[in-house]
Formats: sequence, C-alpha cells, structure tokens
Amino acid sequence: MSDNYSADVVVVGTGVVGCTVAEHALDAGLSVLMLEAGPRVERWQIVENFRNLPPSLKANWDAAYPPKPWAPHLETYTDASAAEYLQLEGPDALAYRQGYVRYAGGATWHWAGICWRLTPEDMKLKSLYGVGRDWAFDYNTLEPYYTRAEYALGVSGPSDPALQWPPMRSKPYPMGQLPFGPGEQRFTDVAAKIGLHNLPAAQARNSGVSYNGRPACCGNNNCFPVCPIGAKYDAATTLPRIEAKGGVILANAVVYRVETGSKNAVQAVHFFDQDKVSHRVTGKVFVIACNGIETPKILLMSKNEKNSNGVANSSDQVGRNMMDQPKISAQITMAEPLWTGVGPVQSSSIMNTSQGDFRNVHTGALFRMENAARSRVGGLAALKKGLVGKALDAEIRRLSACTATLTIEHELIPLPYNRLTLSAKKDWLGLNKPNIYYDVSDYVRRSTATYTLPILKQLMAGLGTTDSQINNFYTHSDHIMGGCIMGTDPSTSVVDADCRAHDHDNLFLPGGGAMTTGGSGNSTLTMVALAMKASDAIVSQLKAG
Ligand SMILES: Cc1cc2nc3c(=O)[nH]c(=O)nc-3n(C[C@H](O)[C@H](O)[C@H](O)COP(=O)(O)OP(=O)(O)OC[C@H]3O[C@@H](n4cnc5c(N)ncnc54)[C@H](O)[C@@H]3O)c2cc1C
Ligand code: SF4
Repeated sequence: MSDNYSADVVVVGTGVVGCTVAEHALDAGLSVLMLEAGPRVERWQIVENFRNLPPSLKANWDAAYPPKPWAPHLETYTDASAAEYLQLEGPDALAYRQGYVRYAGGATWHWAGICWRLTPEDMKLKSLYGVGRDWAFDYNTLEPYYTRAEYALGVSGPSDPALQWPPMRSKPYPMGQLPFGPGEQRFTDVAAKIGLHNLPAAQARNSGVSYNGRPACCGNNNCFPVCPIGAKYDAATTLPRIEAKGGVILANAVVYRVETGSKNAVQAVHFFDQDKVSHRVTGKVFVIACNGIETPKILLMSKNEKNSNGVANSSDQVGRNMMDQPKISAQITMAEPLWTGVGPVQSSSIMNTSQGDFRNVHTGALFRMENAARSRVGGLAALKKGLVGKALDAEIRRLSACTATLTIEHELIPLPYNRLTLSAKKDWLGLNKPNIYYDVSDYVRRSTATYTLPILKQLMAGLGTTDSQINNFYTHSDHIMGGCIMGTDPSTSVVDADCRAHDHDNLFLPGGGAMTTGGSGNSTLTMVALAMKASDAIVSQLKAG
C-alpha cells in the first residue's frame, strides 16, 4: 500500500525518549512524525480503569493498562505461561518480567518518577574495576545533558550538595526537595545509626509549585498506576505540546520493519495499523525509541540481504547485554508504627552502598524503603484472618502502620549472553514475540550473599523488626537497558556516542538500550540525557544538509 507519510525526523515510540527527541527537532524547525504502537488515552480513563479494578489487582499497576491485541505487553500480574508476550528463559528468567505499557506516552504513565544520575565511577567500570565496559565518554560530557533532562522533566531535589547524588552538578535542581513522610524519616534515622546515608531522591514531580503546566504534588501516594492530577512527569503531558508545535502523532501504528537503501541508509519504516494494513513512512532521519526490548526486536525483525543479522547489527550485539537492576525485597513487621504512605510512593534511597573498590569482586546496590501506603495490603491480610468490626479496624490500622517493604537494587554489568532474540511464537499481528535469556551472574549473587543481605539485616534490626520474609529470588526493577549498547568500536557495539547506529548514518537508537552500564539507581534520567545528546546530533546532521 502506498502512503504519503513522511517527515524530516520520523520518531518511533512516544515514550519519554521519543518525546524528548521529537520536541527538540520541532524546536529546531524540523518536521516530525511520531509512530506509536498503542492507543492514545486520556488520564481520566486510566484513573477509571484503576478505580474499577478488584482490590486484589489494585497493587498491579499494569492492570490499569489492558493491552490492545495489536500492541501486546507483558501483564506482570498473570502467571508465567507460554501465552505470555515476553518469552523468558535462563536461570533468572522470572527476574526479567519487565513492566512497560504500549500506550501513547509509554511507561512513564506509571513510573515512580525517581531521577538518579550515574556517578563518574559508574561510567568507568572496566578501567576502575576490571569488569563490564567503559562508556564512550565521561561524566563531565554527560553532565550538561543531565541538567537539560532535569529541567525538561521538572525534577525536584535537594539544594545541599551533601544530600545530592552525585553532587557534581552545574545547576541546582529546577525545584526544591519534597518533604519526607514519617516512614522515610524514621528509615533515614535508622540508616544513619549504622553509618548509612538515606538521601532524598531527585524526582520528576513538582514540589510546592506548578511546573510546565503540571500542578504541585499533593502527596496522595497514587503514583502507581497513575498520578491522577499529573503532578508527576509523564510523557503523555508532552504529547499535546508536540502537536501544538506541529508534530504529527499516529497512534495504533506498530512498526515492524526498517527498510535500508543505498549506502545502507534507512529509507523507510513500515507499520501495521490496527486493521493489519501495512503502511510505509519515509524520512531523512529515523529514531527508534521503543524501549530496551522493543527497539532491538524491531531491528532483528528487519534483517535483509545487506543486513543479514538484522539492521544495525553487523557487530552481532543487537539484543545482547540486556540489563536491569536485579531486586531482592523483604516484607517486614515492626512493633512500632512506621506509617509509610505519606507522600510519593518512593522518595529516598541509600546510594553510597553502590560504590566502592569491592566492585572488582561483586556488585554494589541501592537500598530503599518503599513508601507505598500499606492500607490495601493490610486490609486484605486482616480480612483473610476472618476479623470483623472493631477487631478488623484495629488490625488494618496495625498492619498499615507497622509493616513495610525494604528493597535492594543491584547493579548488573553488561554480559553478552543476557540476550534478546526473536521467539518463533507470534503475536496477534503475526510478529515475533521477544525471547530473553537472563542470568543475573555470580557477580550479583556474590554481592547478595556477602554484602547486601548483611546490610539489609542490619536495617531490619535497626527498625525493630519482629517478623520478616526475605525473598530468596531476584525480581525485575523495570529499568530495561543494554540491547543496543553504545561504544566507540563498531565491531563490539551498536551505536556511537550520539546513539547513531554505527551501520546506518541516519538511524538513531537513543534510550535504555544504548546505555553501556546501568549503575544501581533508576535509569530513565540517563536515557533522557542520551536522547538530548542524540537530538543535538540529529539537528546538526540535518542542518548540515
Ligand atoms: C512500575 C514502574 C516504575 C518505574 N519507576 C521508575 C523510576 O522511578 N525511575 C526511573 O528512572 N524509571 C522508572 N521506570 C522505568 C521507566 O518507566 C522507563 O525507563 C521509561 O519509561 C522508558 O522510556 P522509553 O521512552 O525508553 O520507553 P517506553 O516508555 O516504554 O516507551 C516506548 C514507546 O514505544 C512504543 N512502541 C513499542 N513498540 C513499538 C512499535 N513496534 N511501533 C511503534 N511504537 C512502539 C510503546 O507503545 C511506547 O509508547 C519504571 C517502570 C515501571 C514499569
Ligand atoms: S503523590 Fe499523588 S500527586 Fe504526588 S505524584 Fe504521586 S500520585 Fe501524583
């Protein structure tokens, strides 16, 4: 079928990474067409979906985002089964049950909004500790892009350098830090007693002021699955601005092939609409920003005579080095009330435990007390006990106040065998489902055994834990990284320092996939900083003609 879809910059994916590139290209006077696999929805529709869920599903943020047949995503609350979208294998297969939604706006609809930067050391693992890889550039090169990313997302954070992570910054955060709730404060005090520093998180939510048309955060703790008032950044808040600047957004457009032409440049992408009709879109520059799973999947699906391993894959690195931050959690009960749930669902972390010379032997990690309200979990648990009346009321109150979840998020280094390939199983459109092999590695397991679990137990003791259950398995942190790894050598990496594919001059793959290492902190701010850097490169490439 022939179409007239064309633009200077064709952006695939309307998550935070795609929106960042689209807005910059529009600001530079370029025409932009965005293709989005999922539907376009309004905030109130998601709030309604959530409100109407049964209580047992209310903790499963993704249940508020039922997938469309043509844009499936993993529903993390269902049992693992062959019917699932994401096919997983390997010793830690279930630890890669990544959450993302294929809706316009992408996964930031339901993210926690935490915006840590990498440290200079996180970017030099190979030269400092002999493990993983070094980035193509250092922290000082990335710093201005971090600052731009923080101002674009509207990040609040502390002004005292002693509370910033890391403190090497060229500008203050655009907004001051949000106040701690009682649980966060108690956790901070307990951590301090064992020599650990619980820091206020930099977070993309508005503290006390409106920012970019978003209202101030009112601390109602509904950040998962959606901020009902839009105080937390999500990419959906950017979409109307992109359209007002002249950008065109096509929803329900599932890109399945990247077409290459002369000099191996990309000349078109192809998408299916929701009626399974195929369309072709031409452009000057193409940006695939579909997250660390869907982007490598599209590249692998696009193999052709000239690119027999898939597009951008002469190095055979597309889909390899898949990363996340393998997580261990503990459910604890204390004698004294802690009262988590006042303010956002996450607001702080212990970060200095992620750094140290031990990284030549085992990985580092961050520690966090989850600040999600416990009333739902407490309510269900109290009902299960068969209580009624005042006894039920008292038990819900006790369980809401005196229980908490502690989390460890370990850094994972890039390992080529952690690999996304195309499954022989097909989705509704007949496209291959992604298959991922995942092993968190002995580097992480050593850390858990000798370093992070002992720290966790100290924190539990400090909080006066009377009862606990520590998961003895890893789970996902939803920070998808690595499948289009960045580097200076085209034979061992997929993209260059500007996220441009080594193999195709006009193809950019910014976002988590390009990250060379992931650190222990939530990684989206780094993805956005990379998108900013890629945007500058795209604009200069097109302006240079
Ligand atoms: C519960 C949860 C909490 C999180 N909390 C945090 C946090 O506190 N801090 C943090 O740093 N990160 C957090 N994350 C991760 C964060 O949400 C992601 O890193 C971020 O949203 C990635 O942005 P993206 O634009 O790369 O990808 P996405 O947001 O996944 O966007 C990709 C877009 O591409 C579209 N797409 C996919 N396939 C195709 C296709 N074939 N054709 C066309 N379009 C396609 C999708 O529909 C989607 O709109 C969290 C994630 C989850 C699930
Ligand atoms: S605490 Fe409430 S207002 Fe603040 S970001 Fe979360 S959901 Fe939005």
